[in-house]
Parts: sequence; C-alpha cells; structure tokens
Amino acid sequence: VAAATANIGVVGLAVMGSNLARNLASREGNTVAVFNRSRSKTDELLATHPEANFVSAFSYEEFAASLTTPRTAVIMVKAGKATDAVIDALVNVFEPGDIIVDGGNALFTDTIRREKAVRETGINFVGMGVSGGEEGALLGPSLMPGGSDESWITLGPILRSIAAVAEGEPCVTHVGHDGAGHFVKMVHNGIEYADMQLIAEAYDLIRRGTGKSPAEIADVFAEWNRGELESYLIEITAEVLRQVDAATGKPLVDVIVDQAGAKGTGAWTVQTALSLGVPVSGIAEATFARSLSSHPEQRAISRSLPGAEEDLEVEDVDAFIEDVRLALYASKIVAYSQGFDEIRAGAAEYGWNIDLGAIAKIWRGGCIIRAQFLNRITEAYAEAPDLAVLLTAPYFVDALGRAQGAWRRIVSTSANAGIPAPAFSSSLAYYDGLRAERLPAALIQGQRDFFGAHTYKRIDKDGTFHTLWSGDR
Ligand code: NAP
Repeated sequence: VAAATANIGVVGLAVMGSNLARNLASREGNTVAVFNRSRSKTDELLATHPEANFVSAFSYEEFAASLTTPRTAVIMVKAGKATDAVIDALVNVFEPGDIIVDGGNALFTDTIRREKAVRETGINFVGMGVSGGEEGALLGPSLMPGGSDESWITLGPILRSIAAVAEGEPCVTHVGHDGAGHFVKMVHNGIEYADMQLIAEAYDLIRRGTGKSPAEIADVFAEWNRGELESYLIEITAEVLRQVDAATGKPLVDVIVDQAGAKGTGAWTVQTALSLGVPVSGIAEATFARSLSSHPEQRAISRSLPGAEEDLEVEDVDAFIEDVRLALYASKIVAYSQGFDEIRAGAAEYGWNIDLGAIAKIWRGGCIIRAQFLNRITEAYAEAPDLAVLLTAPYFVDALGRAQGAWRRIVSTSANAGIPAPAFSSSLAYYDGLRAERLPAALIQGQRDFFGAHTYKRIDKDGTFHTLWSGDR
C-alpha cells in the first residue's frame, strides 16, 4: 500500500466532480485523491489533466489509504440513491474523526438523516450546497456547507481557498449544522427561479408594448446592468437576447420552444415553504409559470379563450421601459425578502443559527444570483440582525417608495392588455397584503366558525369565541 499523500479527495468524476477536483488541485498545498465508480472517468481525467498531479484510486480501500488523516472527501455524484451508496462505502473504509462532504444537490431532509446516521460512527458528515454550475466548480463556486463545528475547522481553510471571491472575500461560510447548507442552497435556487421569471416578464412586456426587437431589448438589459439591477442574470439575458440563430437568421429566442424545464429545486423550495407556513408567493408563481408553459396541449385548447378588449399601446416608450425596470426591481426585492423569510423560518424550525447577512455575502460571487444588490441585504441584517421582514429595512423602504407607482402601473397595464405577469402581480399583492391595516382574513375566520365551529379571536377581548349563527345547523 502506497503512503497516504493526499490531503483531500473527490468521489464522482463527472463534470462537477472533475472540475472541483481540478480547482482543488490548482491551489497551493493541496494534493487531491480522485475516485470514480467506473474507471474510465478517472483514466480520462488523469490523461487530460496531468498538471493536477492527482492521486488516483480504483477502489474505496485505495482511496482511503491515499488520504492523510483526518481524511476529507467530497462526494460529487448523482443526488439520491447514489449518494447513499457512496456514503455507505466511505463509512466502511474511513475512521472516526474523518470528514465526508456531500456536494451534490441533496434535499436538506436527506442531509439531516445522513448526518445523524454517519455521526453515530464517529465520522463527520457535511452537506454542502455548491452553486455556479460547471464553471463555478472549476474557477470558484459559492459554497454553502452545513455540518459540525469540528468539521469546519478542517474544511474552512480548504473551502475558502477554492471558493469564488467577491470584493476580496471568499464566497463561503459555515451556514449552520446538519442540513442547513443544503437548505440555504435550495432557497438560493428558489430565488433564482423568481429572478429569472421576473426578467422574462419584463422582456415580454417590453417586446409586446414597444415592438422592440430582441437585439434592441438586449441593449435595454445591458443598460440596466449598469444600475441597481446589476447582476449575472441581467447580464446573460442581454447576451441571450442578442443571439442570432445560425440556421434561420432569426433571433434565437424566437426559435427556442417556449416551455421551461426544471430540475425540482424550485418545487422543493415551495413545498418546504408551504410546510413552514411561509408565503414565498413570488417563488411559487415563478415555479408554476414554468409548469404552465410546459403543458402545450392545455395551452393549445385555451388559445380560443376570450382575451383583453384592448391591446397594449405604449405612447412614451422610454417612460414605459423605466416603469418596467422599477417594477422588476420592486418585485425582485420581494422575492429576496420572501426567500430570506424562508431561511429564517427553516432556521427556527430546525434549530440552526444562520447569519442571514453572511448568506447574502456568499451569494455575491460564484453563484447564479450573484449581484451587487446583495450588499444591501447584508447591510440590512448588520443594522438589524433580527429584522422580521427584509422589506422593512430603510434602504428597501426607500427603494419601494420610489418604485411602487411604476409597479402598480405595470401590473394594471399588463392585466388590462391580457399579458401574463404572474410574478410581478403576486409580488405586488404580497406587498399590499403585508402593508394592510386590516385583512379580510377576519371574514375567513367568520366563515370557518360558521361551517366548522373553528372559533375566532376578538380585537377587544382575550379568549376564544364561537357565535351561534342564525343559520346554525
Ligand atoms: P451527475 O450526472 O449528476 O452524476 C454522475 C456521477 O455520479 C458519475 O460520476 C457516476 O459514476 C456517479 N454515480 C452514479 N451512481 C452512482 C453510484 N451508485 N455509486 C457511485 N457513483 C455513482 O454528475 P454532475 O452533473 O457532475 O453532478 C454531480 C452532483 O453535483 C449532482 O448531485 C448534481 O445535482 C450536483 N450539482 C450539479 C450542478 C451542475 O451544474 N451540473 C451544479 C451544482 C450541483 P459513473 O461514472 O460510474 O456512472
């Protein structure tokens, strides 16, 4: 048996795992052991990247023997059963004090279960959210590790060295115990869904309202990217809209089938929010908008439904585009506020001590929702760590004050013209719901008491009340 020489290992050498292994190998002081279930991927990685000086292993025993103790291994395999299989195999060859990191897209409840089971063997298990796709894994991802404080002592320096850097700071923090990292990664993806849907609605309104071509709208997004909306998603939107299809000469966006796919993390975010009782309506609308788009048969038979009386006719194009920009900004603030609300609620439910300002910071680089704007969130939580509603931080109150007139105009204009803007309009409804002095929830309590004797509370007395309704059956 060869001497242990590697300080870190990677199991699973598909695109994410091999890129992460190369990233690790490129940092001073690391020697990286690599292992994949089928040998061909290992051979290929070694052949194409001799500069990385990988230590290759062709069995779990060899892999364990090649690692210095405490052994540290990152799993990057297909989420689900494959992850369980690899964890079981590593637990067999590792020893107490070693660290197993799952960097796949696991559901946080699986991570909680796995952490509990692995902890009983004395081995540390860390569920880690990895964002930024293939390029992030290679050049610097945003990393969201959970797990024990003990594991963080060993992992922290390694992860800081490979993470993306934003304004001089590595995009990684110890999010919280057990499943906290995968929970936060899940909400990151939910926010990403909302962000993308809002941008798509803005594009649709501008296109249908002004008749501008995709290439002209690309210029609008490029301009927006120089202001408060500056972000990776706005930047790539301009590039997507500018792209011309080589085969037809048409804008590529007009050639792409208008049915949005999803891998399920948006749905997880919404399902989890429903169980926690957190209204992430913007994220939910974004997820449902993808579902609606993906039912061509329903859409085909619905084309005959009566539409709006009037078409959208924009007189002042520049003023309209500025209204759309402000509506997008306001709705985006709502989506982030809802996402952070879900993280707060998850932390309370699962007993995680999550620094919300630190989460906003590690999303500034490496990940899909990276944006300048996240600094405003970090500042809001720095001023008020217990802020119950992110929207109410002074900066956002001011921004929403500037945007709300435009936001209302855009939501009513789109409704009048029959242009769907589900994320714009549900975000506005959420905003007005939160602001309301009184909500018609009082009537719902009356109805519930009427048909089910569910009782209600009164505004003027303590206690629980039931009315003998005249229609009582
Ligand atoms: P993938 O296609 O999700 O998974 C392929 C890898 O899983 C291969 O190395 C495969 O080994 C291994 N595998 C499958 N079943 C196995 C089993 N029973 N035992 C051992 N190994 C098994 O790969 P990926 O796209 O690189 O993603 C890896 C992980 O990162 C996933 O959890 C994914 O969700 C997550 N992730 C992906 C992205 C992205 O942008 N792609 C971003 C963030 C996170 P063989 O070669 O032997 O088949």
